[in-house]
Amino acid sequence: MKILKFGGTSLQNANRVNQTTDIIRQRTENDSKLAVVVSAFAGVTDLLISAAQNAAAGDESYKTIVQTLEDIHLNIAQKSLSVQNQSRALAKIVSSLNDLHDVLHGVFLVRELSARVLDFVMSFGERLSAFIVTEVLKEKGVNAEYLDARQVIKTNDHFGQAAVLWDETNEKIQRLFKNKQKLLVITGFIASTKQNETTTLGRSGSDFTASIFGAALDVEEIQIWTDVDGVMTADPRKVPSAFSIPQITYEEAMELSHFGAQVIHPRTMQPALEKKIPIRIKNTLNPQHPGTVISDQSNNWPWSIRGLTSLDSVALVSVIGSGMIGVTGIAGRVFSALAREKINIILISQASSEHSICFAVLPEYSLQAKNALEKELKLELIERTVNKVIVEDNLSIIAVVGEKMRRTRGIAGKVFSSLGQHGINIVAIAQGSSERNISFVIDRKDLTNALNAIHSEFFKHQAENNREVKK
Ligand code: ASP
Ligand code: MG
Repeated sequence: MKILKFGGTSLQNANRVNQTTDIIRQRTENDSKLAVVVSAFAGVTDLLISAAQNAAAGDESYKTIVQTLEDIHLNIAQKSLSVQNQSRALAKIVSSLNDLHDVLHGVFLVRELSARVLDFVMSFGERLSAFIVTEVLKEKGVNAEYLDARQVIKTNDHFGQAAVLWDETNEKIQRLFKNKQKLLVITGFIASTKQNETTTLGRSGSDFTASIFGAALDVEEIQIWTDVDGVMTADPRKVPSAFSIPQITYEEAMELSHFGAQVIHPRTMQPALEKKIPIRIKNTLNPQHPGTVISDQSNNWPWSIRGLTSLDSVALVSVIGSGMIGVTGIAGRVFSALAREKINIILISQASSEHSICFAVLPEYSLQAKNALEKELKLELIERTVNKVIVEDNLSIIAVVGEKMRRTRGIAGKVFSSLGQHGINIVAIAQGSSERNISFVIDRKDLTNALNAIHSEFFKHQAENNREVKK
């Protein structure tokens, strides 16, 4: 059995829905057993969130957004379904959007939006897309059936990013699939608590839904259909010679998707990894392309690194002071203070001189981090054991990733010398002890140059070939 998941971009308009449902139909002819998971149509979740936020702010424009949502769904359904099959489907869509309107009107009246209500509002996206895709598949002669995943995926009540209750969920999924002949079209992203309140699995959670079903049913493969030819050696928008990687390990894929172009969310891989189920990334717009297989296998890849990824915009916060040398506990207090503020740290670096500790955060947290640290280290700042806390903006992080790096010497040397040759200054460096990832911070204006320099240094021949082919 295989699970096929289609994201918002594979369902962007009637044309894409047609392509996607054709792909599904073809696969049902070749593969005996399949199930499909879908995200909301492109942009719909964001619209639902705006509508809810506007309603809570007392802004009547939520009504216009509901109208836009109705147009998007009716338009796709009208274009994709024949006239005789349309009326029932259209009526269902309108009635569902009326329900949405009522909920939002409630939010508007009480001027309050809880995470619980927001999850319920967001659930309309996947419920509508899965319903429409099911109808289109039926019209194409596929024996399809809609499945609301809230029936089987059980979570805690951490609304917005609920945690799966695995035993119950696995059991419910397995029971449901026993003797199921039809092709189930499953709503991604949504789940429910034991009390049947709607929850969601966090943004981009439909991949996770595919992985939950895949692991529960011990499928032979999970396919994530998106709009790129798999995991690339670098972001092709920044590095034109980047190319698709045929095979990659789970750990490498997690390191690569940590930031930058997220082909797949790291969390998605966990259930698949535990059961060693391969995840294949496929392109809906180029279905012939083999894509990337993520598994525990590493094929014979001729290069010493697997790829590059970057985070375009970060800030570096440094705690500087000559009095910190040899003093224990400062690092601990620095990180506890940040943890209390729930600030996520992306990279940490402390030179062995102990004269400064620096760490990277998203720019929107840099001031909050600075304030928290100045408060925590108030005494040290007065006594001048700590001289100052500074924030540097307009920086980027690049990570060089690869399983092979662990056993290969000279990679760091090659990375940094190629940057040196291009006159690119390195602000901070970190290497995780997994040695699967070397990350460093540079000026944002150098990002594209740095990525291209490293990419052509490590993928010399392939990069040249790609350039030839493109000419
Ligand atoms: N529709 C949800 C979102 O946009 C889930 C997903 O797309 O995977 O976050
Ligand atoms: Mg999405």
